[in-house]
Amino acid sequence: MLLKDQVAIITGGAGLNGLGFATARLMAAQGAKVAILDLERADPAGAAAQLGPEHIGLVADVTDKASCDAAVAAVLQAFGRVDTLVNNAGITQPVKTLEITGNDYDRILDVSLRGTLYMSQAVLPAMRQQQGGSIICISSVSAQRGGGILGGPHYSAAKAGVLGLARAMAREFGPENIRVNCITPGLIGTDIIKGKLTEEKKAEIAETIPLARLGCADDIAGACVFLASGLSGYCTGITLDVNGGMLI
Ligand code: NAD
Repeated sequence: MLLKDQVAIITGGAGLNGLGFATARLMAAQGAKVAILDLERADPAGAAAQLGPEHIGLVADVTDKASCDAAVAAVLQAFGRVDTLVNNAGITQPVKTLEITGNDYDRILDVSLRGTLYMSQAVLPAMRQQQGGSIICISSVSAQRGGGILGGPHYSAAKAGVLGLARAMAREFGPENIRVNCITPGLIGTDIIKGKLTEEKKAEIAETIPLARLGCADDIAGACVFLASGLSGYCTGITLDVNGGMLI
């Protein structure tokens, strides 16, 4: 088992069809104790219960620093350590530049970018004390392509910001054996795209992807387990593209 006796926190992990829950499930199968953090309406405790009694679900809003700190304190109380943080919480909005309001901009950047900062700040003291840890930030191919199929320019900006923030943290905390890496998923069939694309449109997109299909949540979960485990022990500051070859 790749993550035996490790503790992993996954934000935005309560949606049973989402990338976060698939990651929680695979990490649990690899021996980790998992804490799923999500908004109350997403029922993180219910999601954790699906994984088994040794895992926990906590209500946390990643845009709220006090909420992040309290959730991490609860994880440390329950499990005594934290080895991996997956900054997965994110929201999108398919609008064009001229349609973005100040509120939209704040909302999208707050969850992906501010949330990544606050959650990282919350776990770093414990990782520092343990002399090691892995922070995994879920960015998006939208950051690299300068526009997504479903995300607006503010989403691309937020996810590009995540790449910069992660690299800066990788540089800063590398000497303390805390690795920080990003994953840039392509188009993955989760609730975030549910109802937004017709089957015809999905087939049309799949034709443009070298691996000829949309991604699935488990594709991302596998990349997260790699970055959490010792298999990636000499990787920090990297961006792992999991997009079926979309950028070739
Ligand atoms: P999802 O909607 O299932 O997951 C997002 C989760 O974030 C939800 O459970 C939601 O409740 C949670 N969340 C939202 N705001 C939050 C907040 N303030 N605090 C805590 N949790 C919050 O969608 P998903 O597709 O599984 O997305 C997971 C991540 O992957 C997101 O960051 C998304 O931007 C990114 N991503 C997804 C795709 C894709 O095609 N599905 C592609 C690239 C990147």
